[in-house]
Amino acid sequence: MEIIVGKSAGFCGGVLNSVTKATKYIENDQNIYSLGEIVHNKEVIKKLEQKGLKIINSLEEIDDNSKVIIRAHGISKETYALAYKKNLTLYDLTCPKVLKIHDEVQKYTNNSYFVILIAHKTHPEVIGTVSFCQANSVIIEEKDEIKDAINKIQNSGYHKIVVMAQTTFSLDLFNEITNILKEELKDYELIINNTICNATEIRQKETKLLAPNVDAMIIIGGKNSSNTKKLGDISKSLCPNTYIIETRDDLKEDLSHYNKVGIMAGASTPKESIDEVIKFLQKI
Ligand code: SF4
Repeated sequence: MEIIVGKSAGFCGGVLNSVTKATKYIENDQNIYSLGEIVHNKEVIKKLEQKGLKIINSLEEIDDNSKVIIRAHGISKETYALAYKKNLTLYDLTCPKVLKIHDEVQKYTNNSYFVILIAHKTHPEVIGTVSFCQANSVIIEEKDEIKDAINKIQNSGYHKIVVMAQTTFSLDLFNEITNILKEELKDYELIINNTICNATEIRQKETKLLAPNVDAMIIIGGKNSSNTKKLGDISKSLCPNTYIIETRDDLKEDLSHYNKVGIMAGASTPKESIDEVIKFLQKI
């Protein structure tokens, strides 16, 4: 069996930085909390918990003056305010690319722009980003939400619009939605600011190249990882034999009849998980 591993598979720079620094912090101090899971990968989280990391879902759960790690995809303005009120020590590992989006949406809203965010509404990164916009914003997740968004803009009285994206959104869907917006919003000053991060873009493009040229694709990543989900969707559309797994243990199917297998992994998938799958396939 020939095994082709995508060059970009696995940790992006932002996740590597978060996991490396979080590991160092916990090794030096066992009294550190993480607000939510640092990355969307249960193997990584398990290791950090074994080292002593305590995960909380809300700052309300901990005492004043505690120490808290902020994950790569950031927190909301209100959460920063609460941390300040509780006098917490923050180890802020928000990825610089997410911080840049927070800065930009603030600048645009301060300059009377209406913000369209092309994003998944419930993703923690998006909840954070929206908090840095003022009321003049709308989220579009699917093409059928464009009409409602346009109505909202027309009723808002705004004339300047900026379109931005969640860092891990699908590049294809972003392009499809922005092409429609360009047509529909011809009478407005419209800025398209593609903020999908290049780590996401590179993994999606590589999956597109690899998937049609193999007999089967294995996509490795956390079940709640947004960018892994996109890689799975892209792969499925180009290679019907796509297996989306979190770890090698999820591979239950007989793969022995495939001659050529491709492997891609999300930006929060550790190298160990990829290596385990490679070893497993090599045995076949
Ligand atoms: S996917 Fe992009 S934005 Fe998210 S942590 Fe990685 S580099 Fe940063």
